[in-house]
Amino acid sequence: MAGASVKVAVRVRPFNTRETSRDAKCVIQMQGNSTCISNPKQPKTEAKSFTFDYSYWSHTTVKDEAFASQRQVYKDIGEEMLLHAFEGYNVCIFAYGQTGAGKSYTMMGRQEEGQEGIIPQLCEDLFKRTFENKDPDLSFSVEVSYMEIYCERVRDLLNPKSKGTLRVREHPIMGPYVEDLSKLAVTGYNDIQDLMDCGNKARTVAATNMNETSSRSHAVFTIVFTQRRRDQLTSLDTEKVSKVSLVDLAGSERADSSGAKGMRLKEGANINKSLTTLGKVISALAEMQNSKKRRSDFIPYRDSVLTWLLKENLGGNSRTAMIAALSPADINYEETLSTLRYADRAK
Ligand code: ADP
Repeated sequence: MAGASVKVAVRVRPFNTRETSRDAKCVIQMQGNSTCISNPKQPKTEAKSFTFDYSYWSHTTVKDEAFASQRQVYKDIGEEMLLHAFEGYNVCIFAYGQTGAGKSYTMMGRQEEGQEGIIPQLCEDLFKRTFENKDPDLSFSVEVSYMEIYCERVRDLLNPKSKGTLRVREHPIMGPYVEDLSKLAVTGYNDIQDLMDCGNKARTVAATNMNETSSRSHAVFTIVFTQRRRDQLTSLDTEKVSKVSLVDLAGSERADSSGAKGMRLKEGANINKSLTTLGKVISALAEMQNSKKRRSDFIPYRDSVLTWLLKENLGGNSRTAMIAALSPADINYEETLSTLRYADRAK
């Protein structure tokens, strides 16, 4: 896409124990930035090939040259988005994919040396850069919020006492927002880490047939980053405000493949609706950019709470990156192919 503002990466994880115990075969191959997937049921047909901004390989126990570390993924995607935030853009990074494919690993990672995901690395880098600032006329402030969207309802993950769901409203200038969502001022990465630990414990996780701890909700972590510059002559402040949204999407697997019924089926329908709408919004933005149309009224932001709340982070003055997480295993072929197609449409 010419002048694209959406960066798209795919990342394949190593086999998990379930796949290893079933003697699963790897259906993904990567070379440079291209990713191929072969159909295990039709081994003679040609593999389908896709090209992305980045194709990240981690499907080997031996760390070969192409192995993408958490650091590498941050350097390529997180740092670029952070620099855009310093320039004053709103930015959004989201992780898409089937449950268990590596979304949380990519966004949050593990609390071990070198295993931290994009969110902790980005927060740490943000504070490091602000502490290094030597310009006495420039000051910074950082506020964070953390919410969960489950079945089109919003819950505050930083205020577990607020049991109910929050209302989504629209400000005439600032756009859509969540009423009464906690926004906490933070002065260093440790504050954020503590808040996120509490928030993650509050997330709705429910067992499905697919995965015991599969996450059925979207988790949206937002950093509002303000840069304030004082004009020495007039003593007036000018502000540059950027919103950084870091989104761990709900699992993209179709409800029918996990044997869902009743509430699970309703959940599945809502998840599919928001993921489909997100896909449509991104393709519509891409199309708008390609055709140089400037009208954005046909972009279906309003069709899901997720896209409505991300409106200011997706179109216009914003930069977006998507990382699609892939399982390498033949048993997940259909889901992995559908993830690759979704990622392909976002380009
Ligand atoms: P999801 O959030 O998509 O449901 P997770 O991020 O929880 O999936 O990943 C499932 C498991 O696979 C976790 O144990 C995680 O640590 C591991 N994993 C995922 N991606 C990678 C990776 N690139 N390298 C190593 N381990 C990974």
